[in-house]
Amino acid sequence: MKSAQIRQTFLDFFKEKQHEVVSSAPMVIKNDPTLMFTNAGMNQFKDLFLGNSEIKYARIADSQKCLRVSGKHNDLEEVGVDTYHHTMFEMLGNWSFGNYFKKEAIEWAWELLVDVYKIDKDRLYFTVFEGDEQDGTEMDEDAYNLWKAILEKNNLPLYKILKANKKDNFWEMGDTGPCGPCSEIHVDLRNDDEIAKIPGRELVNADHPQVVEIWNLVFMEFNRMANGELKSLPAKHVDTGMGFERLAMVLQGKQSNYDTDVFMPTIDKISQLTGVKYQNTLDVSVKTDVAIRVIADHVRAVTFSIADGQLPSNTGAGYVIRRILRRAIRYGYSFLDQKEPFINELVSVLAKQMGEAFPELLAQQELITKVIREEEDSFLRTLEKGIHRFENYLATANDKTVDGEFAFELYDTFGFPIDLTELMATENNFDVDMPGFIVALDKQKERSRAAGKIEADDWVVLREDDVEEFIGYDYTEADTYLTKYRRIVAKGEEFYQLVFRLTPFYPEGGGQVGDTGYIDNGFEKVEILDTKKENNLIIHFVKELPKDYYTKFKIVVSNDRNLTACNHSATHLMHQALREILGTHVEQKGSLVNAEYLRFDFSHFEKLNDEQLQQIEDFVNEKIQANIPLNEHREIPITKAEEAGAMMLFGEKYGDVVRMIEFGDSKELCGGIHVDNTSEIKLFKIKSEGSVAAGIRRIEALTNIGAGNWLKEKVDIIAENNLTGLIPLEIKNQVEEFKNNLMDECLKVSNDCKDIDLKSPGVSQLDAITNAINEFTKIKLPQNIIEGLNTKKKEILKAAEEGNKEKASQIKDELLGKVEVVNGVNVIAQKIDLDDSAAIKDLAFQLKGQIDNLFMVLGAEVNGKPNLTIVVSEELSKTKNLHAGNIIREAAKEMRGGGGGQPFYATAGGSNVEGIQAAIAKALSFIA
Ligand code: ATP
Ligand code: MG
Repeated sequence: MKSAQIRQTFLDFFKEKQHEVVSSAPMVIKNDPTLMFTNAGMNQFKDLFLGNSEIKYARIADSQKCLRVSGKHNDLEEVGVDTYHHTMFEMLGNWSFGNYFKKEAIEWAWELLVDVYKIDKDRLYFTVFEGDEQDGTEMDEDAYNLWKAILEKNNLPLYKILKANKKDNFWEMGDTGPCGPCSEIHVDLRNDDEIAKIPGRELVNADHPQVVEIWNLVFMEFNRMANGELKSLPAKHVDTGMGFERLAMVLQGKQSNYDTDVFMPTIDKISQLTGVKYQNTLDVSVKTDVAIRVIADHVRAVTFSIADGQLPSNTGAGYVIRRILRRAIRYGYSFLDQKEPFINELVSVLAKQMGEAFPELLAQQELITKVIREEEDSFLRTLEKGIHRFENYLATANDKTVDGEFAFELYDTFGFPIDLTELMATENNFDVDMPGFIVALDKQKERSRAAGKIEADDWVVLREDDVEEFIGYDYTEADTYLTKYRRIVAKGEEFYQLVFRLTPFYPEGGGQVGDTGYIDNGFEKVEILDTKKENNLIIHFVKELPKDYYTKFKIVVSNDRNLTACNHSATHLMHQALREILGTHVEQKGSLVNAEYLRFDFSHFEKLNDEQLQQIEDFVNEKIQANIPLNEHREIPITKAEEAGAMMLFGEKYGDVVRMIEFGDSKELCGGIHVDNTSEIKLFKIKSEGSVAAGIRRIEALTNIGAGNWLKEKVDIIAENNLTGLIPLEIKNQVEEFKNNLMDECLKVSNDCKDIDLKSPGVSQLDAITNAINEFTKIKLPQNIIEGLNTKKKEILKAAEEGNKEKASQIKDELLGKVEVVNGVNVIAQKIDLDDSAAIKDLAFQLKGQIDNLFMVLGAEVNGKPNLTIVVSEELSKTKNLHAGNIIREAAKEMRGGGGGQPFYATAGGSNVEGIQAAIAKALSFIA
C-alpha cells in the first residue's frame, strides 16, 4: 500500500465512525509560550482538553505534522542512528472529547490494524498502565480487560498484554494539566528464526529496531495540580497517536522507515548528488548510511518548517531549525565529503512527492530552496573556519588531549557537534576531554534554563462557569470582573496573569502588539502591562492584583489604538500592492504593527528599486484617498472566505469560522484592529527597504502622524539649508503653515525625499532657490508654495539681468576712456567685472561699432570661471592678418582653457581664473 493511501485509509476509517476529519495544524506554534513546535497531535486541541474552548466536534480525526527536536520530546540524537525516530513525522490520530472512551478506542484500533490494514495479529503486543503508588493510581483494569476480551475472541495468548510503568504508559501534557494512563500497540517485525530465539514480548519497550511502538492510545481522566496532586476530570477524553512512517514500514513489509516510499525518493536523490550509495545497513558504524538517513530526515523537517513560515534564525524556533539544518550539512560534510551545497536540491523531490497532501511545499518551493542554499553556503564557510581553528589548536597543543572548554567553543561558536570534534581528534591521534566538555555544556544549559524559566502557580478560579469574551472590536473599555488568575515568575520577575469575563484588550497576535491600559475600581488604578494569548485564552499581565479583585471594576485600554489600526490596515493595503506590483510569489513572512510604525517581511528575491517603491507608495496612497470603507466579516465560514478570494497564509491555523477584513479588493483573514475607512490612515510613507534573509525582504513604513512627522523633519532640513534669508517671508509663512497643517496637506505628498542633500558647495542665490524648488517638487509640497518659489526665481533672474545691463553700460564708458594706440592700432585690454557672458558679448559688439581699427581683449570671471573675449576690426584683420580665433586659441592656454571663433570675434573659457591676466598679455603680444 502506498503511503498516501495508508493515510487516506486511516482518515476514511474514522470518518465512517462519525469523526470530523480536520487538517493538520501548522508545525510551528505561535500562541503558546510553553511550546515552540507541535510535538503531538493533541497540541492543537489543548484548549478543548483544558476547557478553555467550546467543543464543536466530539469526535475528530487527522494527520498532524509533528516535530520532536526540543523540550519534553527531543528525538534529534536518535535520528539517523536508528530507523524509526524522525525529527519531523506525521501523527495519525483520533479523538474523543468527552464522548467515547476506552472501549471504542481499543476496539477500533484493533479493527483498523487487523481487519483493515491486515497486520498479522500474532505480531502485535499491547501495553497497559500498571499503576503508581506515589500518585495513588491503580492499574488500568479497564484497558486490560478490553484487550483480554479481544485476544480471547481471537484465540490469542494473554501474555500479549504487558504491564508498563508510569514512564512509558502515563501521559501528561506538562507539569500541570490533563493527564492519564495509556495503552500502546507494538509490532514485532523480525523474521521467524529470530522470533523463535527471543519472544517478542521480551523486546517491547526495549529499544529494539524491529519491535517498535506504532500507536499510543491515551485516556485522559485526571488533572495534575501544581502541588502534584491528581484530580479526576469531569469529562474524559481519548487522544491517540500513530506514527505514519512507522505504519508505512509495517504495511510495506520493510525493516526501516527509510525503506518506505516516504523516504526512498529523497535517499535516491542524495545518492545521485553525492555519488555515495545507500547500503541499507543498520550498523551505525557505517557512517555513510547514518549520514544519508540524517539528511533525508532533516531536509524534510526544515522544508516543512520554512513552508510553515519559520525561517532559520539566531533565536527561538528559528534557531532550532537552523541547528537541524546544520546537523544535516555537517553529516554531508564529514561523511559524504560534500564541501559544496547540495541539500537544497532535495527540496524539489519533496515538493513533488508530498505536494499533493501539503500544497504549501509546491507553492513555496523556490523560496525554501533559496533559504536552504544560503544556509548551506554560510555554514560551510563557518565549518572551514572552525577546522582551521582546530588545526591551529592541534599545532600548539601541549599534550594529546583536546581541552573540554575548547571543544565547547567549537560546538558553541562554530556549530561543531561533539562527535565531529571527536572524529577529527581521533584522526590526529588526539583525545577529547569529554568530562570537561560536559561541564561547559551543562553550565550553558543552566544559564539558558535560568534565563527562560517560567514558574506558574495553579489558576485560582473565581467563577467556574464563566467563559471569557473578547469585545475589543467594538469597545476599548469594559465593566467586568475576574474569572481566574495565577501568579507566575518569569526570568526572576513576578507577575499576575488575569483572565476577565469581558475584555476589550487585544492580545498580541497577527503581528499586532498587545494592548496596555489599566484596571480602575474607583479608588486605585492597576496598570495592565501587556496582553497575550495562550492558546485561546486572553491573558492580562499586571504586577499586582487589584485589592478588591473579587468585585466588579472597569478596565480601560489606554494605548493609541487608532494609530495602531492605521498601521495594521496599511499593512494589508501594502501586502496587496506588493502582490500586484511585484507578483503573487510575494507571501507574508512576518509582521509587526504598533502605534509607531509597521514592519512587513515577505518573500521576494531581489532588492526593490526606487520605481517599485514609488509604485507601492502611490498604490497605497491612492487607496487611502479613495475613502474605502472597512467591510468586516466577523464570522464567516472559511469556505466562503476562500470563495471570496481572501488571502490565506501558510503556517497559519484557521478555524472553520474566520474573520475577514475587506477594504475593496484587499481581503485578508485577520483578527487585528482596523480603521473604519482607509482615509483615516491619511498618508503612507515607506521608510526603508532591505533584506532580512535569503529571499526575504523587509519594508518599514509609516502612516498618519508618523508619516507626517517624518515629512516635517525633511521640510525642516530643507528650510534650514535653503530658505534662511533667501525666501520671502510670505513663502516662509506658507511653509510654516504647511507644516502646521501637515496632516491635512500631506495627503498630497507621497514622494521619497530621503536622499535630499542640500549642503552642496558654492550655492548661489539662484542655485539655492532652484534646489528648493526641486526638492519641494520632489516631496510634493503644495503647488502654491512651489509657484511662489518660481516667481521668486524669475524675479532674481530678471533683477540679475537688469543689474548686469546697468553695470555693462558703466564699464563701456570706462573702457572708452582707456583706449591706447599701439603700432597705429586702437587697443583695449582689460579685465572687467561682469558676471554674465551675454552682457559681455553685447558690450563687445557695442564697442566694436563705436571704435575703428580696434583690437580688444576682455577678460572676466563668469560663474567662477575665466572668460576671454577678443574683437578685431574687419579692416585690421585683413591688413595686419590678425585672426581673433587663432589668437584666442593660444591665449586661452594661459587660463587652462580653449576657444575659437571668427577672424574678428572669438571667445574662450577655461578653468584657471588666476590665468586671466596672462591670457590678456599673451593676446596683446600679437600686435606688439
Ligand atoms: P517512542 O518511545 O518510540 O519514542 P513515544 O512514546 O515517544 O515513542 P508517543 O509520544 O506516544 O511516542 O507518540 C505516538 C506515536 O508517534 C508513537 O507510537 C510512534 O508511532 C510515533 N512517534 C513518536 N515519536 C516519533 C518519532 N520521533 N518519529 C517517528 N514517529 C514517532
Ligand atoms: Mg519518544
